[in-house]
Amino acid sequence: MKQEFDVVVVGSGAGAMMAALRAHDEGLSVALIEKSDRYGGTSAVSGGGIWIPLNKQIKDDREAVLAYVRAAAQGQVADARLVAYVDTAHEMVEYLQQATRLRYAACHRYPDYYPQLVGAREGGRTMDPEVFDGGLLGEELARLREPSGSTLLMGKVSMTARDAHRMLAKEKGWKLLFAKLMLRFALDFRARKKLGRRTDRRLALGNALVAGLRHGLLTRQVPLYLETALESLLFEGGRVCGVVAAHKGERIELRARRGVVLAAGGFERNQALRDQYLPAPNQAAWGVTPPNNTGDALLAAQALGAATDLMQWAWWAPTIHVPKQAAQTGLFAERSLPGCIAVDGDGRRFVNEAKPYLEFVTAMYARHRENGKCVPAWLVFDADFRHKYPMGPLMPGQVAPDRKSWQGVVYWKADTLEGLAKEIGVNAAGLAATVARVNEDAASGTDRDYGKGGNVFDRYYSDASVKPNPCLAPIAKGPFYAMRLDAGDIGTKGGLSTNEDAQVLDERGAPIAGLYAIGNTSASVMGPSYPGAGSTLGPALTFGYRAARHLARPA
Ligand code: FAD
Repeated sequence: MKQEFDVVVVGSGAGAMMAALRAHDEGLSVALIEKSDRYGGTSAVSGGGIWIPLNKQIKDDREAVLAYVRAAAQGQVADARLVAYVDTAHEMVEYLQQATRLRYAACHRYPDYYPQLVGAREGGRTMDPEVFDGGLLGEELARLREPSGSTLLMGKVSMTARDAHRMLAKEKGWKLLFAKLMLRFALDFRARKKLGRRTDRRLALGNALVAGLRHGLLTRQVPLYLETALESLLFEGGRVCGVVAAHKGERIELRARRGVVLAAGGFERNQALRDQYLPAPNQAAWGVTPPNNTGDALLAAQALGAATDLMQWAWWAPTIHVPKQAAQTGLFAERSLPGCIAVDGDGRRFVNEAKPYLEFVTAMYARHRENGKCVPAWLVFDADFRHKYPMGPLMPGQVAPDRKSWQGVVYWKADTLEGLAKEIGVNAAGLAATVARVNEDAASGTDRDYGKGGNVFDRYYSDASVKPNPCLAPIAKGPFYAMRLDAGDIGTKGGLSTNEDAQVLDERGAPIAGLYAIGNTSASVMGPSYPGAGSTLGPALTFGYRAARHLARPA
């Protein structure tokens, strides 16, 4: 098989689909290839949140945003890329909403991740997709990568990130909201039956994002070839002019008159590349992503002399192993809740537990470099915490009692702290001293060691009814619980070096003609940082949009 288009896009995550959508609307012919038999990649199982400074739903300040992203990027990102992001992300969202049926709402109270940096906002830059009617996709709905059960209420019912926050933080009206969502699901049984679906027809989070984009591509009749994996790039006359791919055992060539956009995710599922670049110890199996992102596009571009950056970084997130699940469960929010602490093998804390997930795992590695006892780390809480709050796969004890078969696998439990320490191989005296100190801090409201609950971000997922500090409570009532935290990730952060139009650069810093990279195939525009929820998908979409515009420019 041999075919020719203006543009070939490799991958089918959010950025890939945006690049294809925009390229089509620029008047170019375009096709996407996807290695898996499902489309959507990690984007489909994600929260679907996008970090969009200057979006129309808030009053933001360009200079403040620039100061913030510059401070976060710590001088490790070319300023032209940062400026391009800040000036284009909001335009991209307007285009997305005009070109598809997808709608985004600002999360007005979701703070930026680094409130201590100049230019940070207390909410509104993160945007969350509204639910999207999966029925609009017809037969294509069955080929959309399924959301993780942990993002659905009772494993079935869709909720937006704003809904999830209201329920987790037990805000006023949360019980009514829960009942409304359950009722909406129950009353929809006929539509579900027609579509042959067990889970909600209304899609939320990353599923809504990918479904909205897929619907946009379907209405434009843009082809998406599943089970078609990039193997190498065609390079002729000094430019990239297509791809060689494997399609169900057959070798095919897709030629691209204008160029190729690499949007095939990172290398998080390739253990050999992880061993080469990421800190040790690390395991692909500790991640939360689907299995296909093995760095194929990265390797294909490197074979043409492409440069890379930030290769030692991942979008880190602590994760928990749960038997029979395709991937581990990420702990994004619950660490902020009052009455849980994270400790190393000496029983000592090493971080403000409420810190953003990337910083949390970075702190795990920092302590591990010192004492070799922090990967894995342990999360410890008591019976009160267990009763009231969720923790990863554990729903609050008041609605879901301990599952016996998970004891010693997902959670560890003992009547005393000493017994718990023995169960998990942590120093008992160290743990006792840590808990005694934390309990004093819970009473005074000040975490003397790490300042948990000391800023607006920490308090976003806290319990406002707990005083004086909504992120601190004593760990006092047995039985005591522990959960093992692995140094997981939601994708890698390093990748191909690109410029402000997503063109891939060679070792001399010059663009490789006809070659573009976005999403986790490229080195993050955020440098080593994670400025706010949506800092991976926001840039993937924005640089997909910019790449398409650049491809459409007259030669
Ligand atoms: P992907 O979305 O993974 O797409 C890459 C695609 O390329 C895949 O479909 C893959 O199969 C395909 N592919 C791989 N190799 C080949 C090949 N050789 N040929 C053809 N195709 C190939 N980020 C946010 O910004 N906001 C959030 O709310 C958020 N929530 C998250 C929640 C969870 C649970 C997880 C796991 C991640 C979350 N993330 C979030 C991170 C975000 O999902 C990823 O960083 C993002 O989806 C990466 O996009 P991508 O296009 O680079 O890769």
